[in-house]
Amino acid sequence: MKYVYDDQNIFAKILRGEIPNQTVFENAHTLAFRDINAQAPVHILVIPKGPYMSLDHFARDASDDELVGFMKAVAEVCRLEGVDAGFRAVANSREDGVQDVPHYHLHILAGRNLGPMLVGQT
Ligand code: AMP
Repeated sequence: MKYVYDDQNIFAKILRGEIPNQTVFENAHTLAFRDINAQAPVHILVIPKGPYMSLDHFARDASDDELVGFMKAVAEVCRLEGVDAGFRAVANSREDGVQDVPHYHLHILAGRNLGPMLVGQT
């Protein structure tokens, strides 16, 4: 798989400070902010600061520090948002995954029962 990162995507602009965001948590390699079109009472996007277009790209090419920093940020978001009753983590990836923004992001959804994972045809 050849990964081609487009640095004009909206999350790259957020990381450069060109577009505002509602930050929830940040560490050296990771930013977490509220989704602008929340699908649940809690809807946070966790993104690496590096130029990775999808989860598999990040998993393949990120450094150990980036990988650890990302997962620690997920833990912090869960703690800060108090998702004790549970949550769903979603990483839409490329065309079939219906990924709109080509910068890897993990959706953290919580605050209500989220229902079945997928609806529609198999
Ligand atoms: P995906 O379909 O997985 O690529 O999801 C992209 C997500 O980014 C959607 O849930 C959008 O609501 C969200 N989004 C798009 N632009 C912004 C923005 N400027 N700030 C926060 N969230 C955004």
